[in-house]
Amino acid sequence: MINIIGAGLAGLSAALTLAEAGKKCRLISAQPSERAQSVLAEGGINAALDTMGEDDTPLLHFEETMKGGCYLAAPDAVRALTKNAPDIVRKLQRLGVPFNLNDDGSIMLRSFGGQKKKRTAFAKSSTGKMIMTALADEVRKYEARGLVTRFSHHTFIRLMTDAGKCAGVCARDDHTGKLYELRGDVIKCCGGLNGFFPEITTGTVTNSGNAAAALFSQGVKFANLEMIQYHPTTMGIYGKRCLVSEAARGEGGRLFSEKDGVRRYFMEERYPVLKNLMPRDVVSREMYSELRGGRKTYLDLTEIPDAIWDKKLSDLREEIMHYFPLDPKEQPVPVEPAIHYFMGGIYVNERHESSMRGLYAAGECACLYHGANRLGGNSMLGALFGGMTAAKNAQSDDSDDISERSGSEQFNCTAHPQFVKKSGEILARGLGIARCEADISDALSELNSLGCLGAVELARHELAAAMLLSALNRKESRGAHFRSDFPETNDEYRKTTVSCYKNGAVDITFEDIPENEDII
Ligand SMILES: Cc1cc2nc3c(=O)[nH]c(=O)nc-3n(C[C@H](O)[C@H](O)[C@H](O)COP(=O)(O)OP(=O)(O)OC[C@H]3O[C@@H](n4cnc5c(N)ncnc54)[C@H](O)[C@@H]3O)c2cc1C
Repeated sequence: MINIIGAGLAGLSAALTLAEAGKKCRLISAQPSERAQSVLAEGGINAALDTMGEDDTPLLHFEETMKGGCYLAAPDAVRALTKNAPDIVRKLQRLGVPFNLNDDGSIMLRSFGGQKKKRTAFAKSSTGKMIMTALADEVRKYEARGLVTRFSHHTFIRLMTDAGKCAGVCARDDHTGKLYELRGDVIKCCGGLNGFFPEITTGTVTNSGNAAAALFSQGVKFANLEMIQYHPTTMGIYGKRCLVSEAARGEGGRLFSEKDGVRRYFMEERYPVLKNLMPRDVVSREMYSELRGGRKTYLDLTEIPDAIWDKKLSDLREEIMHYFPLDPKEQPVPVEPAIHYFMGGIYVNERHESSMRGLYAAGECACLYHGANRLGGNSMLGALFGGMTAAKNAQSDDSDDISERSGSEQFNCTAHPQFVKKSGEILARGLGIARCEADISDALSELNSLGCLGAVELARHELAAAMLLSALNRKESRGAHFRSDFPETNDEYRKTTVSCYKNGAVDITFEDIPENEDII
């Protein structure tokens, strides 16, 4: 039996792939699918469907993904991802995702950052919700047949291991507090590390990062932890950041800064080809520099025609009006960059195998496709394709081995809120849009002076230290990792940063990326 941890896009995709092959799995998640972060995805999913008369191809999608990621992603994996993208989107449409359509009935595509072709399929600006609804419904059919067994409201505690191999998971029923041991291969699909950055992330902090921290403390390798994507256009709401999707710029939104009544459309001035649709790392850095210069930054959506608002962005407009007393059709939206996506995570190869035999990972918790910077629209694709690939490679047996551990009611698997808040503030200082040795080192010292209260906090502490040490050791600027003391890209660092916890300490090394002559 295969245990899937996480029921967002990657977890559902893995479950569906296994079920379609007649294999049984357990779908274990802290929250039910309807509450997964995937539901928040707005703008769309990339695939070179070439329905807009632009001669797009999977090869161009591959090249732009590699370039956007500053050549840090694994080329063969990206090639497979981009090649399979059109079939994945067509399958989603067959499952009932209401993608916006062209007049000839083909799937309409919109522009997204870092891509010269229109390549992003969308369902207005609720694409994630629509895809999740279709997938959850499809998986439900296999639940009814007994091929998928749901364990919603179950929190991952740790891996069970046997002679260094992953032998299953230990999970807690959040209603009863009972602990269960579930044997078999494991596919981790537990989302990004948002819970390490409360209040300054667009994602959900119910993805606490505790599962990732537990794995790290158990010796599983992680990669590229310094690569954290700041999304340029977010608005502050009640203790978190609300995303204004890149789709808004894809449909004509323009960024400007303002000081003393003077407006500057800085992206258009500095980047005449892709303008407001440069990759997110570039846009975020430009906004950061405007803000540091005392110029407030805004997204101007007032020139977008009514028909586009009605057909493609109506739900985005409603969301902005819901949280702010302003109508984006009439007034510019004040925006600033905030933490949005984690390119780094569990180190996997193109089969989605982790460094521990029997353990696989897919979706935002894994590091494979996005290199130093993810292109918008590629992460839902990566989660779906990653879930499929991990499911095809995980080893399944027919045993249904599950046991309850006695005396487990008192088990605590939640980090102390004060620790989470404090460590989050420290990480934010060390891992800002622009970093330097002094800031990162100060953050490390502060982190080390925090008292660690128990096993969960200790594991989080180790993973947080690995993020900072990865940033400290990469002495160059590349994609989302901008070092003000090393502002140039240095090809000696075109390598994967690998973090591992061993002998009671965090170890950081750099590994070569397999060369692929087609893209060099
Ligand atoms: C506001 C927003 C907009 C976005 N828009 C887009 C977009 O337009 N296009 C795009 O491609 N991408 C977009 N993204 C990114 C994309 O949505 C995510 O990267 C992707 O959906 C992640 O899917 P996932 O399956 O890896 O994780 P998630 O959907 O986050 O699912 C994680 C699962 O793991 C479970 N889990 C977490 N921790 C534990 C634990 N300790 N124990 C048990 N279970 C646990 C959760 O309950 C959940 O079921 C957006 C992200 C955000 C935040």
